[in-house]
Amino acid sequence: MIDKEYIQTLFNAGKLYRCLPYALIFKTTHYCYYKCGHCCENAGPHRERRYINADIICDYISQAIQQPSFSRDVIFTGGEVFSSYKFGYEKYVSRLLTFSLDNGLSTDIKTNAGWANTNWGGEIFNDLHNILAKYPGDALSDGGRLNAPKLQISLSVDRFHSNCIQNNIRIIMGLLNSHVCIHVSSLNTDIDYTDNFNKELNKVLRSAHVGYIDAFTSQGQPIKIINNKIVLYSSYGTLFSHGRASDLSDALKVDLPQYKFVGDGNVLVAFDNAGMVSLGENSGHKIATRWQKSDGGVVPLNTIRKNLYRNILLDPFTTHTK
Ligand code: SF4
Repeated sequence: MIDKEYIQTLFNAGKLYRCLPYALIFKTTHYCYYKCGHCCENAGPHRERRYINADIICDYISQAIQQPSFSRDVIFTGGEVFSSYKFGYEKYVSRLLTFSLDNGLSTDIKTNAGWANTNWGGEIFNDLHNILAKYPGDALSDGGRLNAPKLQISLSVDRFHSNCIQNNIRIIMGLLNSHVCIHVSSLNTDIDYTDNFNKELNKVLRSAHVGYIDAFTSQGQPIKIINNKIVLYSSYGTLFSHGRASDLSDALKVDLPQYKFVGDGNVLVAFDNAGMVSLGENSGHKIATRWQKSDGGVVPLNTIRKNLYRNILLDPFTTHTK
């Protein structure tokens, strides 16, 4: 685990940018047509239908590509990023995914899947098919080795996301012939939802070839291969007390500052739609700075990272440093 003294040493030596690997995450909007009780982002239909400008996101990605400490991982999330299709930004998601994938980055997009069974979901499927057609492949090579897809779509299965089982299954069935990774995340408290999801998925997959590779995720979960195209795995996480989740009795309150996550591999440098960027995602005590200036201009990525690490050093929270 990293500590302030280490960060101070690197900071003084001007080595921070080379030493601390980071990934980019863009919380593109706070708008969502759901209003889940556990939403860490306070997203919902009451929030503005506004999205971080795609040119700005692509420019930040371009800046990151120049930096050796960028892990080359990009995550797009919200709110619900696919809601952009409803409000006249039909090419928003395609632009982001295409830019990231064309630059050879490991790309993950998170969705509540609420669009999958709607009449506007067809356009999303079309766009995903077109994007994924540029990156064809089989999940397993001739030698039986895993051929990792370029794009991951992250879905949620839990008690909060309504119709999540039917919607997520619709997405998988709609992408059955595309080389794509599907990550299904759930909460430690909601494992029965994932069990139901797997049962229902197995029923509809009868005609498609389903197999497993001889490997497990870091959480010990099996990796499923569907139709020799889709790589599917599950993960379980903790419900953290943040945003609306703070009202839930079983949400875990975390006092650790987010920079404590710096030592756990890549730190997430998370941009949000309110013009802020923070270290870490949605749990713990926030270390943040602005990416958007008051005049609408944007702060360069190098300056943002410098400001974030400076704010770690200025942060009065010292109880858990060691
Ligand atoms: S948890 Fe996800 S689906 Fe639910 S309100 Fe928040 S952003 Fe929307």
